[in-house]
Amino acid sequence: MGKEEVVEGSVWVPEPALRAFTSAVFRKLGVPTRDARVTTDVLVTADLRGIGSHGVARLPRYVTGIRNGTITQGYSSRIVKQTRTTAVIDGGNGLGQVVGRKGMELAIAKARRASVGFVAVRNSNHYGIAGYYSMIALKAGMIGISMTNAAPLVVPTFGRISVLGTNPISVAVPAGREGPFILDMATSVVPRGSIEVYDRQGKRMPLGWAVDASGHATEDPQTVLESLARRLGGGILPLGGEGEEFSGHKGYGLALLVDILCGVLPGAAFGLDVYADEDSANVGHFFGAIDVRAFRPIREFKRDMDKLVRMLRESPKAAGHDRIYVHGEKSAAMEKERKAKGIPLGPKVADSLKKIGADMGVPWIV
Ligand code: NDP
Repeated sequence: MGKEEVVEGSVWVPEPALRAFTSAVFRKLGVPTRDARVTTDVLVTADLRGIGSHGVARLPRYVTGIRNGTITQGYSSRIVKQTRTTAVIDGGNGLGQVVGRKGMELAIAKARRASVGFVAVRNSNHYGIAGYYSMIALKAGMIGISMTNAAPLVVPTFGRISVLGTNPISVAVPAGREGPFILDMATSVVPRGSIEVYDRQGKRMPLGWAVDASGHATEDPQTVLESLARRLGGGILPLGGEGEEFSGHKGYGLALLVDILCGVLPGAAFGLDVYADEDSANVGHFFGAIDVRAFRPIREFKRDMDKLVRMLRESPKAAGHDRIYVHGEKSAAMEKERKAKGIPLGPKVADSLKKIGADMGVPWIV
């Protein structure tokens, strides 16, 4: 999928003001200042990188979760098991962003000492964009891996009920003069957030993204979201689409792999059980850090990464196209632009945030 289009009637808000507002909302809910800052950083980073489906538009859900106690807002995560290179964290049902950052930082700390670090997390919540965490490893000159399982929204190949999540995978790899490779993708054709964006904008979605409760492909985002919410059947298709013709079974396999590493490995919920318990989503994450220096000098590695990126970029273009991108390039360009120009918020998102602000006594951005 390309970057989301800016919705008509959007308001453009400066990044620092959006951060201040979002952080203030979390603090009003009793979230410690550092955790509020981390959670805000994940959400605003998504908006900066043009992933509005996972940005501040999701604030109302976190607010509801904290208010009704399905998300705990204090410091309650702990390491329950570890070796030199691995750890399991119990997230204490905390904010997924806070628990996720802790998990990735621990994986990096282990990799500094032992060349690799892998951390699996249980008892967490929705952590936002997978790429936020893998990118943390770049600053340490390492390869970062980040995955999470999610609510069952994806229909397995030849099935008609959603059993797996949109389970994203992100891998970030440092380069030299070129930008880093940052793969950050749902293992479904689209994440639910993209269907919600079409719904918010009142638009039909492309045929091939999802099936309705009867198992037929549909263009109506509302039907899909409703039948998913009421567990009536249907759902989003795995990467590759319906059946085997375009390799839907491979996307299904990737989603399943993520559920194994994030759900089964740390002892978190998996498959139909993710979010099944009303009091605890028990979402699982998996983080990895690989120190390039354990394989070859970082300078040589980065030089060859640059070479590979240029080989791709300079290779012949298909008719009608004048540019080949490498993963992470579009998001990086958008981040630069939005840091300067501000972040566009669609009218529905802006209204929902204003309402939250009014309700909680946090002044809206003027
Ligand atoms: P996209 O389809 O937009 O992008 C997937 C990847 O492809 C990105 O790395 C992107 O890089 C890259 N890309 C896009 N266009 C090109 C191109 N023409 N050439 C080369 N690379 C390209 O992402 P998704 O819609 O699958 O996922 C969106 C977000 O949703 C992700 O951040 C994901 O982590 C998040 N998510 C979170 C879930 C959760 O439960 N927490 C569940 C599912 C998804 P670039 O960034 O530069 O565009």
